[in-house]
This record gives sequence, structure tokens and C-alpha cells, in this order.
Amino acid sequence: MTRELEIAQNLAKVRERIAKAAASSDRNLEEITLIAVTKNFPVSDAQILYELGIRDMGENRDEEGARKSEQLPADIAWHFQGQIQSRKIKSIASWADVVHSLDSLSHAEKFAALVEGKPIEFFLQINLEPEREDRGGIAPNALEEFLDQLKVKTEIVPIGLMTVAPIDQDPTRSFLKLAQLGKVAKVSKLSMGMSGDFEAAIAAGATHIRVGSSILGSRGYRA
Ligand SMILES: *Cc1c(COP(=O)(O)O)cnc(C)c1O
Repeated sequence: MTRELEIAQNLAKVRERIAKAAASSDRNLEEITLIAVTKNFPVSDAQILYELGIRDMGENRDEEGARKSEQLPADIAWHFQGQIQSRKIKSIASWADVVHSLDSLSHAEKFAALVEGKPIEFFLQINLEPEREDRGGIAPNALEEFLDQLKVKTEIVPIGLMTVAPIDQDPTRSFLKLAQLGKVAKVSKLSMGMSGDFEAAIAAGATHIRVGSSILGSRGYRA
């Protein structure tokens, strides 16, 4: 089987799963954006996805995103969803259209100084298991204070919240929690749901799902 056919079949299955999940929770398909996560896969795979109609792609690393965005058509929205390193912000801002992983005020101030030339949309990443500090994200009980400070210090108005559901917990509970925090933050977008749990995310109100391995296969077997 060619790589084109393999990706086309996987993508068709994912689109079918999305349609089913949307139908069974009375969600409109148009309000759900599928972000194909292309991290660790070659530019040629991203090119195939482009030809299959994908216009939203997700990357976790600055160098990889910069390289791929340069080599692919300009009408792709690039989503940065990895951990942000301060010294990479200038570069990230040069290619990313949407940043899903903002969780620091100093990073926000750095981005704010760069976004004048090129608008970027921001999601705030929430850490639903704040006792684990190795995870990125704002603790739920620190969100309101973060939003207040963000308003004081920058012009950035986040469009939504993002999370990665903790592996050892019921994803539905995590996603409902994020939806509830979205109301507190008065944002309309929710970036949640990956290959293994996006149906539950859609049922809980996800507007952006970030799907990698269900479309491109397991990472590492190709790189
Ligand atoms: C890798 C990654 C994804 C995609 O995960 P899959 O399980 O391959 O679909 C989504 N979101 C984030 C933040 C990721 O790092």
C-alpha cells in the first residue's frame, strides 16, 4: 500500500469517527476543527495531508514547525502545541498562527511584543493534575489570577483553553472540567481530545481536536 493510500484511509476513518461523535452529541460538524498533528513525520506526509484537504496542522517543536511551514503552501494554519521555551518565542511567532500552550505571563509579554506584524491566536494550557509539575499548564485554581494579570500586562485576549487529559483518569471528567473552566474564563474555544479520546472531547464540547497517530501511525516507526 502506498503512503498516500494509507494516510487517506486513516484520515477517512478519523473523519467518520468525528462525524459520529458530533451526531451523537448534537454538535455541528462545522464547529469542530481537526488539527492533524504532523510532529515527527516528514514534510512529504504533511504534503499528502494537504492534498487530502487538511488546512490545520499541529507541531510541538519550533525547528520542525518552522521547516515544514516554509515548505508547504501558505494557506495552512500552523498550530504550536508544544512546551514553550523563552528563547524560541521569536521564532515560534514567525510561523505559528495559533499557540495552544501559553501558560506563562513572561512568555505572553514576549509574544505580545511580536504579534503586531502578524496576529496569533492563543489558547491557555490548563494542567488538570497540578500536583504533577512536570506537566505544562496553568493550575485550575490559578486561572482567574492569570487572566487578570494577562489583561494588565498584555493586549493578548485568549480565544480558548487547551488541555491534555491525564492518562490515568476518566477523559470525560477531564474534558467536562475544562469546559467548565472555559465558562469561568469566558472563552468559547476548547482545544482537547487526541487520537485515543477525541470522541469524549467532542461530547464535552471540544472545538479543536489534535489528532496525530490515528492519522499518521505511531510516531517513531517513521521519523
Ligand atoms: C502529540 C500530541 C497530540 C497528538 O497525539 P496523538 O495521540 O498522536 O493523537 C495532541 N496534543 C499534544 C499536545 C501532543 O503533544
